[in-house]
Amino acid sequence: MGDIHMKYIFVTGGVVSSLGKGLTAASLGALLESSGLRITLKKFDPYLNVDPGTMSPFQHGEVYVLDDGAETDLDLGHYERFTHAQLTRRNSVSSGQIYETILRRERNGDYLGETVQVIPHITSEIKRQFTVEDKDIDVTIIELGGTVGDMESMPFFEAMRQFALDIGLQNILFVHVALLPYIRTADEVKTKPAQQSVTLLRSLGIQPHMLMCRTEKRITDEIRQKLSLFCNVPVDGIVEELDVSSIYEVPPMLHNEGVSQFILRYFSWGDRSCDLGPWMDVIGKIRKPKKRISIALVGKYVELQDSYKSVYEALLHGAIANGCSLDVMRVDAEMAEREDVRGLLRDCSGIIVPGGFGNRGIAGMLNAIRHGRENNIPFLGICLGMQLAAIEFARNVAHLEGANSTEFDGDTPFPVISLMDEQNAITKVGGTMRLGAYECSLIPSSHTAEAYNCTTIRERHRHRYEFNGSYGDQLEALGMAIVGTNSRGLIEAIEVKNHPWYVGVQFHPEFKSKPHVPHPLFAAFIRASNQ
Ligand code: GLN
Repeated sequence: MGDIHMKYIFVTGGVVSSLGKGLTAASLGALLESSGLRITLKKFDPYLNVDPGTMSPFQHGEVYVLDDGAETDLDLGHYERFTHAQLTRRNSVSSGQIYETILRRERNGDYLGETVQVIPHITSEIKRQFTVEDKDIDVTIIELGGTVGDMESMPFFEAMRQFALDIGLQNILFVHVALLPYIRTADEVKTKPAQQSVTLLRSLGIQPHMLMCRTEKRITDEIRQKLSLFCNVPVDGIVEELDVSSIYEVPPMLHNEGVSQFILRYFSWGDRSCDLGPWMDVIGKIRKPKKRISIALVGKYVELQDSYKSVYEALLHGAIANGCSLDVMRVDAEMAEREDVRGLLRDCSGIIVPGGFGNRGIAGMLNAIRHGRENNIPFLGICLGMQLAAIEFARNVAHLEGANSTEFDGDTPFPVISLMDEQNAITKVGGTMRLGAYECSLIPSSHTAEAYNCTTIRERHRHRYEFNGSYGDQLEALGMAIVGTNSRGLIEAIEVKNHPWYVGVQFHPEFKSKPHVPHPLFAAFIRASNQ
């Protein structure tokens, strides 16, 4: 099973969720890449949804989309931002997918009368998925969603245990991320929950090699010794993973804690060294901004930190590229419906309206877009944001009263945004949108082409509705410009002429931005907002 030279790092979590396992896994990937190793990252999620595409951003955070159209967990966003790993739908696996595969085989009669069971059938399929597409890779980092002890993640822990036996412990490193809570009244960092979490892990046959201690306070040598003793982990495998002000501080911080050296030594690559130059560059820019910039994000899911994760990160990358620190004003779209937008958006120098689904908050987003257009405030509309920009223009400039998307009003007299034929025929919900990377041609002199500095781009999509081309001429005659189309004639990017910077794109540029390589549209949007 797998290539014998291939190494695997498993990242599991304990005590509580939301510890930043994904960031830890991504940071390990970044450190190994910085030593010249070829890595990939995979996320295994214990839930039964076949993919997160059908889950609400309120519950699960953003759905992250890959080039191949896979709708994945947002941790894959961290993987892509932190590393150069080429991710596909094979890098995001859920229990739902595993069970779907097994049940399809069972219905096909592939098991020839056998009783189909969690062990060995489910666990064998999980193990197969651990090794899928690991060609030309030195290390596969596998993150397991959820927390040790969850009933639904049991088959994954069992598969990990068996896998170590299959390929040899020398090829596997188990990393456990646990919380060390700080008790204010005692002024103490407590180790007991982490100890118990490791005990639980060991009861499943897995002895961690490394314990990442998520903590808000520095940990003493005494705590390290104690954790080492009770968790059966060597002291140099006890790693302090402090809360930091920027996620991009995590790889260098872990490196300074000896993590890179520990892993390289464990896999007998002790002669390699890490070049963290690019990370230090990014951190240097974050720490020493020349100016502060304030961008208003007007959306429906603003209360939840994770719902527009990639948009927030891409904005930050754009700010870094312009030597600015970023202040994102999160404006609840429903508030922009009830209250005076002029007051709400008073202090911002740019407005962004991100993607979204459903009717709620639409009127507020339209108010914000109109305010940006009429007051020459730089604007970036993404997916739903672009669709609403077209609707706002149709209503308020072309006076097409009641212009709308058929998503929100099936009887609109002016369906400026509507379903194309192939989407009309679809009845199933999961995995049926226009998904993944499509090529688009840009008009050379547009702001969009200027930003990219080229006229052919490839960007990722996740939507059902499209700009209705039959309104193109009418809106263009009044000052809108269609600046991006694909080979099938679908409209991918629009601008408003005689405006300092007003761009709407049907795709999601935020999925392709990295701290070292900021996305050109975000960099240009921040630059325009900074004028
Ligand atoms: N709801 C819109 C559509 O389906 C926009 C989707 C999005 O913003 N991702 O087309």
